[in-house]
Amino acid sequence: MRRAVVIGAGLAGVLAAAAVAPGVDEVVVLDSDELPDAPAHRRGLPQGRHAHLFMSGGVAATDALLPGVDVRRRLLDAGAHEIAALRGMLVRSTEGWLPRWRHDGPRVLSCSRALVDWVVRDAVVEATGAEIRHGKATGLLGDAGRVRGVRVSAADGDSELAADLVVDASGRGSRITRWLEGLGVSGLQERSVDSGLVNATRVYRAPAGADRFPLTVVHADPYAGLPGRSGMVMPIEGERWMVSLGGTRGGEPPTDPEGFLRYALELPDPIVGRLISGAEPLTDIHLSRSTSNTRRYAEKVREWPEGLVVLGDALATFNPAYGQGMSVAALGAQVLAKETGRGGVTSPGLARRVQRGAAGPVNAAWALAVGQDVWYPGVRGARPRPADRLVTAYSRRLTKAATGSYRAGAALWDVASLSAGPERVVRPRTLLSVLNGPLLPPPTGVPLTESERKFLNSVDRTEGD
Ligand SMILES: Cc1cc2nc3c(=O)[nH]c(=O)nc-3n(C[C@H](O)[C@H](O)[C@H](O)COP(=O)(O)OP(=O)(O)OC[C@H]3O[C@@H](n4cnc5c(N)ncnc54)[C@H](O)[C@@H]3O)c2cc1C
Repeated sequence: MRRAVVIGAGLAGVLAAAAVAPGVDEVVVLDSDELPDAPAHRRGLPQGRHAHLFMSGGVAATDALLPGVDVRRRLLDAGAHEIAALRGMLVRSTEGWLPRWRHDGPRVLSCSRALVDWVVRDAVVEATGAEIRHGKATGLLGDAGRVRGVRVSAADGDSELAADLVVDASGRGSRITRWLEGLGVSGLQERSVDSGLVNATRVYRAPAGADRFPLTVVHADPYAGLPGRSGMVMPIEGERWMVSLGGTRGGEPPTDPEGFLRYALELPDPIVGRLISGAEPLTDIHLSRSTSNTRRYAEKVREWPEGLVVLGDALATFNPAYGQGMSVAALGAQVLAKETGRGGVTSPGLARRVQRGAAGPVNAAWALAVGQDVWYPGVRGARPRPADRLVTAYSRRLTKAATGSYRAGAALWDVASLSAGPERVVRPRTLLSVLNGPLLPPPTGVPLTESERKFLNSVDRTEGD
């Protein structure tokens, strides 16, 4: 009988369970939290209080892992909003407002993180019969050559759980480096690039008529030589708005309600503050400082043990401003599914092949996030190198072109949503768009329709202040 044990029932964990289920007789997913039977906040997922956009690349990977289930449809039925990036979003980029186009472009799902976890976990259990078990992994069994299971601490005492394959999906707090050292495996290098970003989030009741107003983002500017400041209003299930403000080192957002509103109004465009100025808050303001880009180079360890795979945040985390973590987790699980589908969970070299494959989406997301974060004042762990200057000059020109070119905007969004790899931005037609710059005059202000402008004016309580 073949068994896989997954540590962590977050998104990476349950998708890893879906990936390996066809190749084993039993999948046990361990979580140290009691998991709620509803979309609710829980201790093991502190980031769940903050805005999470589920990009189209990640949604597509999730659906591919669960054929016939249609997770996207389940999320929409549970109240998630599907937003067309090129048409249904208001985005103030570093180079100015992006126009709204008639074509949709990639779509993103906008809902609470708790809803994503609950819907996907439920779908995985139903489709694969994976068992979710309450228990905390405290170490690995086996030796430097092969991992053979997990040490578990649970309410009924400590135990050992044997496995043919162990997946560490225990998130950014993973103890994998120490656990590997316990087996005699060394050389797992780690790197961290930290802009010092602090996220402050509050949920509001969405005012009547808000369902026809676009998701609104004011991006931070890494290139101004000042701390980055950003804001976002995203619709979530239950007619609510989740509002996140972000500030890098030296520009952190406050936690008091007046300061929160003031900060939103003082962003490069006041739209986020205007939208929430009269809205009814439903929660306190919550902070997150878990925002560094940190990765473990599992693919580079010379003697990686058989029987162990590391995915999701346990492998790499990214500045959340770029909205990539869940999608990278899903793409990593897809690599695991492909590799186990080829030769089974015990095929020699499987774990190493998975780590090499999973490094692909990690590299892409890392380049996008770190390429911008290195420019923030006070960033720790990296400095701009000559190559960064070149890449930055190109991506700024691409963004500038996107203020008046559909093709440039589509290329930007294809990469940002992980629907395409970074090579998408250097395709000949995109290069041409970059060379041409904006073909149409860029928007001179917020690109709102007449009815959206009326809605904004009707909810704005700041006028005359
Ligand atoms: C403020 C913020 C905003 C973000 N916004 C976005 C966004 O917009 N879009 C996006 O795609 N990503 C976003 N992310 C990133 C996203 O949250 C992560 O990439 C994603 O949660 C990774 O999932 P995971 O399953 O790897 O880890 P987690 O979701 O952290 O899950 C880890 C699980 O492991 C369990 N666990 C931990 N240790 C043990 C143990 N020893 N034994 C058993 N169980 C254990 C925990 O209880 C938890 O359930 C954001 C992150 C932050 C901090």
